[in-house]
Amino acid sequence: MGLEELHITSKNRYSVSYLTNACFLGFVALPMALILSFIKVVLAVIPLSIFVLLCFLAPFIQRLNFYLPIIRRGGSNNPLVAITFDDGPDPYTTPLLLDILSKYSVKAAFFIIGERAKKHPELVREILARGHEVGNHSNTHDNLLMLKSSKALSDDIVDCQIVLKQFGIKPMAFRPPVGITNPKLFRVLIDLNMFCIGFSRRALDFGNRRVAGMANRILRHIRTGDILLLHDCRPGPVMDVKIWLKEVENILIGIAGKGLIVESLSKVIKKPIMEQLMTRDDGEPNKTRLHVKQVKGANTH
Ligand SMILES: [Zn+2]
Repeated sequence: MGLEELHITSKNRYSVSYLTNACFLGFVALPMALILSFIKVVLAVIPLSIFVLLCFLAPFIQRLNFYLPIIRRGGSNNPLVAITFDDGPDPYTTPLLLDILSKYSVKAAFFIIGERAKKHPELVREILARGHEVGNHSNTHDNLLMLKSSKALSDDIVDCQIVLKQFGIKPMAFRPPVGITNPKLFRVLIDLNMFCIGFSRRALDFGNRRVAGMANRILRHIRTGDILLLHDCRPGPVMDVKIWLKEVENILIGIAGKGLIVESLSKVIKKPIMEQLMTRDDGEPNKTRLHVKQVKGANTH
């Protein structure tokens, strides 16, 4: 396929503000430093130090929206929450997880790793056939991806898009590996007509290495509009898989018990997560297209 298909032209580029919080704070810090330097030169160090400190910390703190806008939660008009699973698909966990989600009639979003999707295409097909949404979680899940060049970063995201295109979808939502961002990511995502998605509540499961107590940690402070972060990867011993599944089930039961409803991520944030293509790469009609409801009134900003 042509890579240019994954990039957007200036004609259909959505309007977006390039003025990030980093720019804004930089514009504030510099004049403040100048003004303070007239009082006492050493005082100029204060705003500049705060700005530099934020530059270093911001990649790890999504809520700052420092280098780019990150969608972390939905609106608060309806009692909706979205549930998302990172790092799959996995032949050991995905089928079990899909059955639990079907049992409770829940639609989730799967942030998939390209290399894993390539290895287990039947699982991605099943995820889509059951009406779940799929986002891009990079091709390699390289924890150091954000330290690489813009080109390497873009190539990794595009490689995942290419893998997912064979299933007749083009995700617009990208979730960075280990939740770390950088100053280059905003531009890369704009060029790919994508946006960054984070989360507002997580199970602190360390990629399913700490599954016991997940439900309690998620449910303790859950509220309307939350985007929950869980993982779809093997927790280790067989016993842990049973515990993990039980915890996922308890989360679904607990959400309902609090009067909240699990809705698809696109509906919670009122923005499409992925585009359904007319055909797959092999030219066959995209059957999963028929299964996925279109998001009505979706906002594209
Ligand atoms: Zn991940």
